Parts: sequence; C-alpha cells; structure tokens
Amino acid sequence: MKEIILNHPLITHKLSILRDKNTGTKEFRELVSEIAILLCYEALKDAKLEKITIETPLEKYETKCINEDNYAFVPILRAGMSMIDGIIKVVPNAKIGHIGLYRNEETLEPVEYYYKMPKNINKREVLILDPMLATGGSAIATIDRLKKDKVKKIKFLCVIAAPEGIKALQKAHPDVQIYCASKDRKLNDIGYILPGLGDAGDRVYGTK
Ligand code: URA
Repeated sequence: MKEIILNHPLITHKLSILRDKNTGTKEFRELVSEIAILLCYEALKDAKLEKITIETPLEKYETKCINEDNYAFVPILRAGMSMIDGIIKVVPNAKIGHIGLYRNEETLEPVEYYYKMPKNINKREVLILDPMLATGGSAIATIDRLKKDKVKKIKFLCVIAAPEGIKALQKAHPDVQIYCASKDRKLNDIGYILPGLGDAGDRVYGTK
C-alpha cells in the first residue's frame, strides 16, 4: 500500500513554521494539533456513514453520520499525545488507547511498558498516532501488539516520515496505510530525520 502524503499549501506552510528551531513550545503544540486534524480528515475519507433521521427547524430530514465508536485512536507515548488535542476537536467522542515503548539499549528492540486499549478493540478501526516515523521500530511493535489483539484495520498517522521508516513499516505490515504530512530526505547516523524538526517529544514538552 503506497503511503499517502498530504500535499497542500496549508500543510507546507504549517510544516515550515514547525521545523524552524526558533518556533517555541506554544506554537509548536498548536501546529502539531492542526496538522493532526488535517491528517485525520484525510484518514477518515473512507469512513462509513450510517443513516439517521433528524428534524431541522422546518422538516424531518434523513441524513448520515459517522459512528465514532467504530474507531480508536492510539498515540504512542509520549510524543503521540501531542496529536490528541487536534483529533478530539474533529472526533470529539474518540476512544483513545495508549501504548508506551522504550528501547532496550542492548538488543535495540522496543519493549512495551504500558498498554491500555478501549473495550472491543478488535471491532474498531485503529488509527495510530506518532508525529515522527523514523526507523519504524515503535510503529511496527505497536501494530504487532494490536494484531495480537485481533485488530483488523489499522492506519498510521504521522507528521514527518523518513523513507527508511516507511519502507520498514510497509515491509512488516503491508496492510497498514501510512498518512504523513511530509516524507523527508533520510535518517542521520543517530536516527534523527533530516531535515526533520528535531526531537518531537522534547519540543512539545519543552524538555530540552
Ligand atoms: N523522533 C523524533 O522525535 N525526531 C526524529 O527526528 C526521529 C525520531
């Protein structure tokens, strides 16, 4: 499945400010939220609509709506949490699961330290959130874990993706559609995306 890269002047504009090292915490947070809204907009393009009947002030009207219970959003801790603000603006009843992973410095493998999903996770479409898709290690481990819970439809939403991460994720999980605001040039020697935006978690939480 080919990755979907949002191609829109608004995205280019917001990413330019986001990448700038002089952009402060407040603006950085707001921009990540805004880009998350646009990613969600794209990722829910194929959402199934259910018929409902409402009454306008003038008459009965048969219309359609999304059943928000068909979805779960899963931010990968901690940077993924920065996308939740935006998501709940457009999907206000979104059910949210959390997964936390750290890297074992000897094996370099991701190790799960937290996992809590909404009930009936196997019946929901799951949209994983992480602003940076770098090597793909955390994304692949998250999807492995969700598939163990029999989740059948998964999408991965990120702000910036490295070509190496896209390739690794597509190889491990060819059924998972990737949505990103930008596909950047490459990873550097220590796993940062170039040109990228630095450490997303540090910039969102002001920890550096
Ligand atoms: N994670 C980040 O926050 N930034 C990168 O460049 C790569 C991984």
